[in-house]
Amino acid sequence: MSHAVGYATRSAKSRLGPFEFERREPGPRDVQIEILFSGVCHSDIHQARDEWGGSIYPMVPGHEIAGRVTHVGAAVRKFKVGDLAGVGCMVDSCRECGSCRDGEEQYCERGMTVFTYNGRFHDGMPTYGGYSSHIVVDEAFVLRISPKLDLAAVAPLLCAGITTYSPMKHWDVQPGQRVGVIGLGGLGHMALKFAHAFGAHVTQFTTTPGKEADARRLGAREVVVTRDPGALKPHEDSFHFLIDTVSGDHDLNSYLRLLRRNGTMVLVGAPEHPAPVEAFSVIGKRRSLAGSAIGGIAQTQEMLDYCAEHGIVSDIERIPIQQINEAYERVLKSDVKYRFVIDMASLKPR
Ligand code: NAP
Ligand code: ZN
Ligand code: ZN
Repeated sequence: MSHAVGYATRSAKSRLGPFEFERREPGPRDVQIEILFSGVCHSDIHQARDEWGGSIYPMVPGHEIAGRVTHVGAAVRKFKVGDLAGVGCMVDSCRECGSCRDGEEQYCERGMTVFTYNGRFHDGMPTYGGYSSHIVVDEAFVLRISPKLDLAAVAPLLCAGITTYSPMKHWDVQPGQRVGVIGLGGLGHMALKFAHAFGAHVTQFTTTPGKEADARRLGAREVVVTRDPGALKPHEDSFHFLIDTVSGDHDLNSYLRLLRRNGTMVLVGAPEHPAPVEAFSVIGKRRSLAGSAIGGIAQTQEMLDYCAEHGIVSDIERIPIQQINEAYERVLKSDVKYRFVIDMASLKPR
């Protein structure tokens, strides 16, 4: 076992604070990574506060992990000591079912996807995430990171990046198509960057008037501030594809009606409460309402390589880990531009 230090929350109502725990010794196929940067995803907040139910405490959140390899097991082929490496939302799965063999480990049919934190290994031991000094992961679930990009700004690609890239690939977003991004936070700003990079005509929907200029800088052709009730109406029946990244309660029907015939709206945001869907929001134009969870390991590597080639990273605010509780409050106020990334050097005593 190796001694790890990090930040954890001990209950749904606690603040995060320092925590010490043990990680397994690296086995033959394991890679040990010194964590240099850890992104702060809204899912960390949902789970820390048990908004999805079933949270395991103490919880060390963090599934946007970027760092440097410090040890490799004897059978490891993809990595050597000193390489940059990333870990996203998953650290293992059954690897044998149809979905796992298709490289979509997040949809493991045996329910054996092991999440990076707030999950359990196959032996029942809890997993601890990236708000920590180091992590030990089977190389099959470790991603290669190009040294061309700013490592801190790469970290959010491991969740916010792949979660928005994957559905746009699945639904085959094409140049010239009308794409709408709902919510301009961590996921939303990556969705905007990817849709723009894929050549779509992108409209950003935001509840925050102050984000309009940023949305245009990030690639939006139009920005719709959704505060006023009539704002969506003029855009009805016009979109091929909508990606809903909103973390809180909102009306789905007014967005569904923005889709043109055969259009799809995919939910990636995962609010705590269910939202009603009117049949007539989807019947009229044969619209589809869909969902999507992160992305498989192979596609995550494809996305990272695409980002290296096209110079795409997240827009980040770096924080020391001591500011994590304040950062959560700012995320909840939609006040993040556009991802907090913890500089893990702040964990070390000075
Ligand atoms: P975030 O940075 O907080 O962004 C969410 C944005 O949604 C906010 O910045 C805000 O944008 C908008 N928003 C928040 N509350 C709203 C409300 N009540 N009504 C309308 N708009 C609202 O969060 P994130 O890290 O991007 O995550 C977004 C959601 O995706 C979370 O629920 C998270 O758990 C989920 N998620 C899902 C997956 C997956 O695999 N499907 C992966 C990662 C995260 P504006 O200021 O522009 O309105
Ligand atoms: Zn996430
Ligand atoms: Zn499986």
